[in-house]
Amino acid sequence: MARYIFITGGVVSSLGKGLASAALGAALQARGYKVRLRKLDPYLNVDPGTMSPYQHGECYVTDDGAETDLDLGHYERFTGRSANKQDNITTGRIYQEIIAKERRGDYLGGTVQVIPHVTDAIKNFVLDGNEGYDFVLCEIGGTVGDIEGLPFFEAIRQLGNELPRGQAVYIHLTLLPYIASAGEMKTKPTQHSVKELRSIGIQPDILMVRCDRQIPENERRKLSQFCNVRPEAVIPAYDAKSIYEVPLAYHKEGLDEQVLDAFDITGSPSADLSRWEKIVDGLHNPEGEVTIAIVGKYTVLKDAYKSLIEALVHGGLANSVKVNLKWLESEAFEGQDPASVLENVNGILVPGGFGERGAEGKIAAAKYARENNIPYFGICFGMQMAVVEAARNLAGLSAASSSEFGGEGEPVVGLMTEWAKGNAKEVREATGDLGGTMRLGAYDARLKEGSKIAEIYGTCDISERHRHRYEVNIAYREQLENAGMVFSGTSPDGVLPETVEIPSHPWFIGVQYHPELKSRPFEPHPLFSAFVGAARNNSRLV
Ligand code: GLN
Repeated sequence: MARYIFITGGVVSSLGKGLASAALGAALQARGYKVRLRKLDPYLNVDPGTMSPYQHGECYVTDDGAETDLDLGHYERFTGRSANKQDNITTGRIYQEIIAKERRGDYLGGTVQVIPHVTDAIKNFVLDGNEGYDFVLCEIGGTVGDIEGLPFFEAIRQLGNELPRGQAVYIHLTLLPYIASAGEMKTKPTQHSVKELRSIGIQPDILMVRCDRQIPENERRKLSQFCNVRPEAVIPAYDAKSIYEVPLAYHKEGLDEQVLDAFDITGSPSADLSRWEKIVDGLHNPEGEVTIAIVGKYTVLKDAYKSLIEALVHGGLANSVKVNLKWLESEAFEGQDPASVLENVNGILVPGGFGERGAEGKIAAAKYARENNIPYFGICFGMQMAVVEAARNLAGLSAASSSEFGGEGEPVVGLMTEWAKGNAKEVREATGDLGGTMRLGAYDARLKEGSKIAEIYGTCDISERHRHRYEVNIAYREQLENAGMVFSGTSPDGVLPETVEIPSHPWFIGVQYHPELKSRPFEPHPLFSAFVGAARNNSRLV
């Protein structure tokens, strides 16, 4: 039977609970255990799909088409296990189910309440489908004391009581601030946070404390005493240069050992973290560097591009180079010659995006890359904008546009209202709901034999994850191909363009899907390896 590890946070948000959970998962995996990670998000949205990246960072899409929290990306990258719909739940989704049941009459005669109905739904979610796993790590979003988090904390408290003795362990992650004027680290916020947790009936077994410097013995003792946690179970979580150092760092501080100890597990195999050491070694000892421009819209908030950044790191590892990222707000160079900002980069990447704002800047970036033989990688919106650019400037369709921008001009990129998913037909309306209605999740694509992209993948049959509402219009295929942009991959029925490339350019590829979601440190995505490799060849720095 699976053992449960509940990870909660306190003091402030953004302490890296997701990363801590993923790193612990990786350390337990390194001891030969099978782990599953799940995320409980207390906010009211049904999923983060409709939230702005400014609010919530990247929306991570799973193979089975769920729009989930970006922490699931960390989970996948660190453990290699593909996440699914059942790994992330929100208050909104729980209430949606409960209210549907109530309307159906399933509770007939009963009053529907937070306890037991909401807490039962949360517990069922946590316990469901865990056969075959040794450890299930459940991270609770937000911080202890948040109003919307209460049912989740209550549910995991109840589970501690209901699971067989010794099957649940609680980890609390807090912050130990250093007050410069006093020259001291302060334990009080952590004490208060643990007090809050204990007031709802949860005594943490392990305390992880984020801090930017060594914790003096005295502070550690104090934390142990006031928070009622064994001194050896107070684990310092120091800032790391790279997230890939975290599993090694936490292991060194004894995190996985303390978890096993809290479960009373003895005789566990020792952890083999050599593959992590290799990654960290590669990161610390690159043979050269390249600079990639990312031309986007949410560039002030790097979390909006979490998987993309990591996939580029992986591509760098595959090529033994450090990848420097130059973030460019596309709007900023609209109406200006892009050369001033793009001339010194080794590659240009236009990532996914939504809406008209900044689109012309992305089109200008694609044009600059095409005309100056700079490697160009267009992802989703970045492919659509490259196609609009080619339609305007290569095929002579000066009014080429996307119907996402209001329906004026030539709809080279258009709204999809019907498409095939396996043998089934998916149908949407322009006026339909926004939540959960895009083309989402894994779809097969067929690549053209002899194309550059087929060569990169080493196969013509691929499956990649999607998240978009618009699609390059296949009706323009002939015109664009005659002008030099080849539709090198399509959906298996040939109706939806999946990839484009310009054969006369050293490296110009657009993909309608999100390859960054499937890249892992141990398995860099072939497109990112190839793109960074092309940038390295184009590099004046190596
Ligand atoms: N806005 C575009 C669409 O919906 C692209 C989406 C994306 O880049 N993920 O098709």
